[in-house]
Amino acid sequence: SIALENVTKRFDDVTAVDGIDLSVTDGEFLVFVGPSGCGKSTTLRLIAGLETATSGSVAIGDTDVTDRDPSERNVSMVFQNYALFPHMTARENITFGMTASGSYANGEIGRLVDDAAATLDIEGLLDRKPAELSGGEKQRVAMGRSLVRDPEVFLMDEPLSNLDAKLRVEMRRELTALHEEFGTTTVYVTHDQTEAMTLGDRVAVMNNGRIEQIDAPQRLYDYPATQFVAEFIGSPA
Ligand code: ATP
Ligand code: MG
Repeated sequence: SIALENVTKRFDDVTAVDGIDLSVTDGEFLVFVGPSGCGKSTTLRLIAGLETATSGSVAIGDTDVTDRDPSERNVSMVFQNYALFPHMTARENITFGMTASGSYANGEIGRLVDDAAATLDIEGLLDRKPAELSGGEKQRVAMGRSLVRDPEVFLMDEPLSNLDAKLRVEMRRELTALHEEFGTTTVYVTHDQTEAMTLGDRVAVMNNGRIEQIDAPQRLYDYPATQFVAEFIGSPA
C-alpha cells in the first residue's frame, strides 16, 4: 500500500504538487491522468523518492519513507524513454546493479531473469543490445528490469507513449495480464484516457497539482465531480 498525506512539492515559484492526499491499497492498479504539466510525473517521483516533498509525508506499507532514498524504498520505476544502457545486452540491462547489491544468492539472478523473460516473451532477445530491439521489445526489457526485483510497488510513467497504436493495445493487454499474475501494487501515469479507463482499478484525474477526482473508471465517466473531469474523461454533457 501507499499513503500520501498532504504532500506538496514546489520548484522555486512553481507548485507542481499541491497538498495531495492519496491512499493506494495492496494490489491496486491506480492510474494518474491529466494534462501536461499537472504534476503526474512529480507525484510518481515523490513516491519513488526521486523528489523530496516540500511538505507532507509518504508511506509505503507500514513504513514512513518521506526521508528515505530511492534505494531504501521497495519500489521499481519504468520510465517513458525506457532508460536502457545502449552498450549493455538486454540481460545486462535487466540485472544491472543486482550483482553489486549482494542481496541475491549465486545463480538466483539467472533464474529470476529467465522467469521474467518467459513471462514477457523475450527469452530469445536477452543477448541483444537495445539498438537491435524494436520499441515494444525495449519496453518489455525495461519491464523485465522492474519485474526481477519483485518490488512492493511498481511505478510506470507513460511507459507506452513511444509505441505505435497496435503495439500499445498489445502492451495494454500484457500489462493487465502481468497485473493479474503478480498483483503488484501499481501506480501508472498516462495522458491517454483509454489507457486510464481500461487499466485502472481506480483513476485519479489531476489538474494544477491537485487530484480533482479519484474513482473507478465507470463512476468517473458516469458521475464526474467537476466540469474539468467531465471534459477530460469525455463524459456526455
Ligand atoms: P507531462 O504530462 O507533460 O509529462 P506532468 O503532469 O508529468 O506533465 P510534471 O512533470 O509533474 O507534469 O510537472 C509539473 C510542474 O512542475 C510543471 O509546471 C513543470 O514545469 C514543473 N517541474 C517539474 N519538474 C521540475 C523541475 N525539476 N524544476 C522546475 N520545475 C519543474
Ligand atoms: Mg510527466
